[in-house]
Amino acid sequence: MKFDTKVVRAGIAPDPATGSIVPPIYETATYVLTEVGKDKGFDYTRSSNPTRQVLEQNLAAIDGGKYGVAFASGMSAVDACLKLLSAGDHVVSSDDVYGGVSRHFNNVLARYGLSFSYVNSSDPGAVSKAIRPRTKLLWVETPTNPLLKITDLQAMSDIARQHGLYFCVDSTFATPVYLRPLEYGADIVMHSTTKYLSGHNQLIGGVIVTNRQDIYGQMKFIQKTIGAVPSPFDCWLTLLGVKTLHLRMPRHSASAQRVAEFLEGHPKVARVTYPGLPSHAQHEIAKAQMSGFSGMISFELKGGLPAGKALMNNVKLCSLAESLGGVETMITHPATMTHVDVPAAERHARGLSDGLVRLSVGIEDVDDIVADLKQALDKA
Ligand code: PLP
Repeated sequence: MKFDTKVVRAGIAPDPATGSIVPPIYETATYVLTEVGKDKGFDYTRSSNPTRQVLEQNLAAIDGGKYGVAFASGMSAVDACLKLLSAGDHVVSSDDVYGGVSRHFNNVLARYGLSFSYVNSSDPGAVSKAIRPRTKLLWVETPTNPLLKITDLQAMSDIARQHGLYFCVDSTFATPVYLRPLEYGADIVMHSTTKYLSGHNQLIGGVIVTNRQDIYGQMKFIQKTIGAVPSPFDCWLTLLGVKTLHLRMPRHSASAQRVAEFLEGHPKVARVTYPGLPSHAQHEIAKAQMSGFSGMISFELKGGLPAGKALMNNVKLCSLAESLGGVETMITHPATMTHVDVPAAERHARGLSDGLVRLSVGIEDVDDIVADLKQALDKA
């Protein structure tokens, strides 16, 4: 199957009981055995569920992987990956990761004996230098949230192989439409399905995809042991969202390019970061590695924080909200919203200023998005 066909069809067969073209919502906790020791492939929904299984097969296929494991949130998918490690192990992580990820690493997992080094993973030399004898995992987010830094995945894969590390990529911003990290040698690709994959701001979810049977076995074990599983209804809603992923992403991407160019040309704007702009520091790597640049932009106004706040308080069409990747355009203030738990000194050290504005460009008419930003910039 070609990619677009996989998005719509992979892993989805007519329901064996009724022929229903849409997989039914198997909203059940348990399954009746035919006799002791004999079930029909399912025993308890924490372990597996037919609706969830369809979603896992579909998402694995579109990322070019053999196995998918779905979780109740992107964060529980992140947590499952980290459970591959043991106390005393060390992780090298991209420095600009989603604030909830660094919160989990620093405020939860560090208490269980894991340690973390944050490096600019756009610089392979810095990644190599950070590796210690107990390093077990290389954690990369690309493009990053919110600074949209790009990491060369082939370079990371080579480093991970050389040092025998698990190599995990949070590919939430890129989606499988534009980037398939398994093709570059990643062991695990992880997504917050809350974002583009489900696509309509309708749920919270996560997934990991892998080609490695050993990792799949461990992920299934963690999934059934911890039970951070998405509800059958949320799996069904995600499946419904995914069916148009290949149609939505080019629109997000084309509109983001137009909005980024508009912002870059605006006299009140100091700096725009979008991987599709030639001014982006890793534009060439992004071009080589991704087939599109997705819908996320970050920017700063010349007037700093007060101007940024005025802009965000004056938009009308753009919604001031956490999250991203939905059909509606959303504007976010990372310093007080998504990254509020990253200590200010650490935020500033990695270039996340208090005035930074993050935009998730939706699929409305782009003229309306630009007009809204223009009128809000007039007041900033
Ligand atoms: N990874 C990235 C890049 C994110 O942006 C987010 C959420 O914003 C997450 C992981 C966590 O996902 P969730 O909110 O579904 O738990």
